[in-house]
Amino acid sequence: KAYDGRGVKQSRRLKVLINPHGGQGKAVSLFRKKVEPILLTAHCSLDVTYTTHSKHAFDIAKDLSLSDYDAVVVVSGDGLVHEILNGFAEHTHPLKALNIPLSPVPTGSGNGLSCNLLGIQDAFDVSAAALNAIKGRPMKTDLFSFTQSGTRRFSFLSQAIGLMADLDIGTEHLRWMGDTRFIVGFLRGVVRYTPCPVTLSIKPVESEKPKLIEKWQEARAAPISLSTDASEEETSGGLPPLKFDSKSQDNDGWIKFDKPLLYVYAGQGPYVGRDLMQFPLSLPDDGLIDVVAQELSSRGDMLKAMDGAEKGSPFWLPGQHYYKAQAYRITPHSKKGCLSIDGEAYPFEEYQVEVHPKLGTLLSM
Ligand code: ADP
Ligand code: MG
Repeated sequence: KAYDGRGVKQSRRLKVLINPHGGQGKAVSLFRKKVEPILLTAHCSLDVTYTTHSKHAFDIAKDLSLSDYDAVVVVSGDGLVHEILNGFAEHTHPLKALNIPLSPVPTGSGNGLSCNLLGIQDAFDVSAAALNAIKGRPMKTDLFSFTQSGTRRFSFLSQAIGLMADLDIGTEHLRWMGDTRFIVGFLRGVVRYTPCPVTLSIKPVESEKPKLIEKWQEARAAPISLSTDASEEETSGGLPPLKFDSKSQDNDGWIKFDKPLLYVYAGQGPYVGRDLMQFPLSLPDDGLIDVVAQELSSRGDMLKAMDGAEKGSPFWLPGQHYYKAQAYRITPHSKKGCLSIDGEAYPFEEYQVEVHPKLGTLLSM
């Protein structure tokens, strides 16, 4: 990087977005005490905004002056990352915007992205996150578009319905608990054991567990490729078009999951939170989405799923189906239910998801 007139090495120019409302409400003090001093010591220039309302980060991202920043530091949970990516998608130069890397600082309740980037040991370590903002290298990640009532939005981590959505959206009042609220929500869901009234249609590339393991476990052991600088040409144009239209479940290769469901959880990770490796076979850039469909099996099975959940062991339970897919669609049969996209609440209405390989950019060490 360049030196300024005093011989001081100029480091990254960072846009910092802080959600004072995230998690247990400690984002501001954690940033000031533990993150800002590290960033300033590394000569980063900081342009800090505290979000004052929901969608504030979306609006900032949508109009961000792209040439002024090398990365965006997100001091919050996964919800603010979701807003920023959707703001970038609506930027006048969406590919250029999505080429600006995000670096999360875990101060929300759900910090799935930090778990994946920093590793589970350091998942909630804000100093490790500060180092990533300084030293991390850009890494491309798949993004998912989800279309609902004709509107297209983007997801980077997960989409959940049924028990796994209720445990997040139904526990907002327990924010003070941090991520323990998700365990409380899970146990409550097991007690209630309410079926999730939807049809899942899916375009899979693999669904047999032995084959999934054979094909993806090795790939997961390989180092993730860090990206080279994208060319002007690569970041010119608009968003990639949708490949699967809303009728596409009638096309070749689509199947319908016909057993009663407790939840559907789809996305990438492998972690969705500190306590749950939901997608043990996911890769950040394989151009596929991992879709988990949990049959209504038994409460006992669900309790067993808690044991080793942070290592991905629910994968082995009977009644848990795992797909590598290009796209899927959820059709609810009732109006009552929760849909959680990256931890944010959306209407419980029909939606379709497809993958866009390497559309997003993150910092990774
Ligand atoms: P958590 O993991 O604790 O849910 P998130 O980063 O996911 O933390 O943020 C939760 C929500 O807070 C997001 O929906 C975001 O829009 C919202 N939000 C951002 N700033 C504010 C604010 N100042 N007051 C209230 N809500 C906010
Ligand atoms: Mg959230």
